[in-house]
Amino acid sequence: MRVAVISAEAVPYSKTGGLGDVAGALPKALKAVGVDSVLITPCYWQTKGEYLWDTAVEDLNVDWRGGIYPAKAFYSEANGSPTFLIDAPSLFHRDSIYGYNEDHERFAFFNHAALVLLKRIGAAPDIVHLNDWHCGFAAVEIAELRRWDDYSRNTRTVFSIHNMAYQGGFSASELWKLGFGSEFARNAFSFNGYASAMKAGLEASDVLSTVSRRYGYEIQTPEFGHGLDWLTRMRADRLVGITNGVDYEVWNPATDPELPANFSIDDLSGKRECKRAMLERFMLPQDLERPVIANITRLTGQKGIDLMMQVAGEVLAAGAFIVSLGSGEKRYEDFWQRLHDLAPNQVGVYRGYSEPLAHLIEAGADMFMMPSKFEPCGLNQMYSLRYGTVPIVRATGGLDDTVQNWDAATGTGNGFKFGQYRADRFLEKIYEALFAYADKETWLKIQRNGMAVDNSWENAARKYVELYEWTRS
Ligand code: ADP
Repeated sequence: MRVAVISAEAVPYSKTGGLGDVAGALPKALKAVGVDSVLITPCYWQTKGEYLWDTAVEDLNVDWRGGIYPAKAFYSEANGSPTFLIDAPSLFHRDSIYGYNEDHERFAFFNHAALVLLKRIGAAPDIVHLNDWHCGFAAVEIAELRRWDDYSRNTRTVFSIHNMAYQGGFSASELWKLGFGSEFARNAFSFNGYASAMKAGLEASDVLSTVSRRYGYEIQTPEFGHGLDWLTRMRADRLVGITNGVDYEVWNPATDPELPANFSIDDLSGKRECKRAMLERFMLPQDLERPVIANITRLTGQKGIDLMMQVAGEVLAAGAFIVSLGSGEKRYEDFWQRLHDLAPNQVGVYRGYSEPLAHLIEAGADMFMMPSKFEPCGLNQMYSLRYGTVPIVRATGGLDDTVQNWDAATGTGNGFKFGQYRADRFLEKIYEALFAYADKETWLKIQRNGMAVDNSWENAARKYVELYEWTRS
């Protein structure tokens, strides 16, 4: 089976969040289970030159808006599987990956160029696996091409929803110039008087998937559907939830090169050294018995920062350290800065993005808080589990699917989980976690329960293969 994965971001070429992790790791995992997979992603200004191994296509002349855009395609296997990076400097060599008024145009181009490239590099894929709103354009284009283009006739599309909150909306009057003037295309994009690339993907793709089972149900409700729940309900018989995997080659405390000491489920002693190094890194006192509660995230409303703001005072009063790594909305960045200024001996803050620091925090912290309002899958709670860092999460989306609440009576569970999006519920769970932490044996049991969980990509890849086969049938 030939599969082409198309994504706006993919590790290690580019990343702003979980989508990048998934799109980088899935093709490699597919290859490992015998699928002939290829990844297509843009070449950004941020993509490191060392990852551009070769020029694969020098003259990828893309017909675009009545002219020809002279793009190129680089080749790489830096993510562990064959990858083509589409190079269109005027569209992708910019200060940031997203955030421009013409993002819809940038990704419409990328989608079209990816399909042009596929024709150049070989036989048609059986499956084109599209990801999030940035790839809604290709879903429509393939559905249209299939009617008359022999190359595309047998290609089927899978569209994965990584986050329903981002829908790629733009003015419907732009559709025509992007090549989507047909009635079919206009209907697919049309949403509340606008055009929505997410809606087009949901409507025009053969099969839909999302990144956890629970999120698959949630997006069929008004609370999580962001206006498109009627469509996911309508297509529920074609919608499947597959929890993301973790790349254990990158996130493995036993081999992680970013750590001052390695550790494993059988010998956790190195974790103490990581905690020491992390406290030092944040210029916090070397009080190794005191619990550290950490958070690593994009600072947006989705991530439950409001709840963290409400409980921070009590958490500090209870004696814990708090460590935060993240950047995003100013009010949240200001909050962390103020908290640090208020209690510099108890609060460590790094505003920005740092992969090495994320590894050190995952290893050095005792607890990881993730009280998200919604969370399609979430990766950090799974990294935390593997690093013996006990997650405290809200029961939503992938957090609910991957974290089991600790039950002292049976000795089962690997974290602490609350239901309602309320600060008092969150705080209760933090207190419970602190109580459990005080008993070394109990804590070790919770840590080990988490470290034993297998969230490998191999499991997830096999489920995707089943999904692809179902899509073709
Ligand atoms: P989302 O995709 O909504 O941002 P996920 O938990 O699925 O959330 O994935 C987030 C990914 O981005 C994780 O790999 C996490 O470690 C990483 N990440 C987020 N913010 C930062 C940061 N400031 N520094 C380093 N890594 C970060």
